[in-house]
Amino acid sequence: MERLTCISCGTYIQVGKGAVRFPCPECDEIIGRCKRCRELGKRYVSKCGFEGP
Ligand SMILES: [Zn+2]
Ligand SMILES: [Zn+2]
Repeated sequence: MERLTCISCGTYIQVGKGAVRFPCPECDEIIGRCKRCRELGKRYVSKCGFEGP
């Protein structure tokens, strides 16, 4: 299984257990977010500078 880290806190995440992965709308970099950071609504910044909620 692919290992992915949360872009906000750096924790390893497992997609499907509340965590998500999706491509950046701007540059298609794969972004991972853990359940906790999603719940807290932490912001993320992509390599290209794109900021998301
Ligand atoms: Zn996180
Ligand atoms: Zn990007």
